[in-house]
Amino acid sequence: MDLTVYRVPSWAAEPGLRHGFVGRNGGNSEGAYASLNVSFNVGDDPRAVKDNYCAMKGALGMAGTRMVTMRQRHGDTILDVAEPCKEAGEGDAMVTDAPGVFLGVLTADCVPIVCWARAADRKVAAVIHAGWRGTLAGVAMKTVRHIERRYGTAPRDLACALGPAIGLCCYEIGADVADPLVREWGERAEAALQSRDSGTYLDLRRLNAALLAAAGVPEEHIHLSGPCTACHPAEFFSHRREFRNGAGVTGRQAGFIGWSDTG
Ligand SMILES: [Zn+2]
Repeated sequence: MDLTVYRVPSWAAEPGLRHGFVGRNGGNSEGAYASLNVSFNVGDDPRAVKDNYCAMKGALGMAGTRMVTMRQRHGDTILDVAEPCKEAGEGDAMVTDAPGVFLGVLTADCVPIVCWARAADRKVAAVIHAGWRGTLAGVAMKTVRHIERRYGTAPRDLACALGPAIGLCCYEIGADVADPLVREWGERAEAALQSRDSGTYLDLRRLNAALLAAAGVPEEHIHLSGPCTACHPAEFFSHRREFRNGAGVTGRQAGFIGWSDTG
């Protein structure tokens, strides 16, 4: 099975850490969901989605593990996950310190963010789903603060990667999105906006990277991984691209992270 997987190369040196941003290739789904759709909530045949999870985990060398997902709501609810389960509940971020728990975030343009930290006695992993609404709500910053409060991990010890998402090249927005972002995040939002061809475009990854840095994650620990989802139809699902094309029906791809319990 030929998967597209983007990873942060330097993280490979971390024993037991598994992470990646998986593209749309290599699954069993058909039509608008072709082929590795991993969402049960976008109208695809659930049997195909189930097969896709099995095939993906097998190809990643993670057969037999569970990839925990959440019912994403474009909000700022953070879920703590203590053991492997199918779905952690409604939320847009998940955190675990349990080995063997792999967290998955499903996207098709929104920014998937995966984070980790390792202290002497504790390994933490987190995923964040940041579209413009979640970004406005500050979900990435709130997750960093939550990790410090609840797990005792300082922001300076976190490493984060922002995966394939719609880029500045393609993400045209209106004043209904730009204005509230600038009101909330000021110069950080302005730096992520660009005016061209009488339109306004947003670099959602850049804004989230800036917000992670503002929350105390060192800039050298913040990585961008993978290209624009809307520009790369063969590699990635893109909600905006398919919406422009008419139907707006598309699949979701997975970003994931966790610590193996076998070291
Ligand atoms: Zn693009």
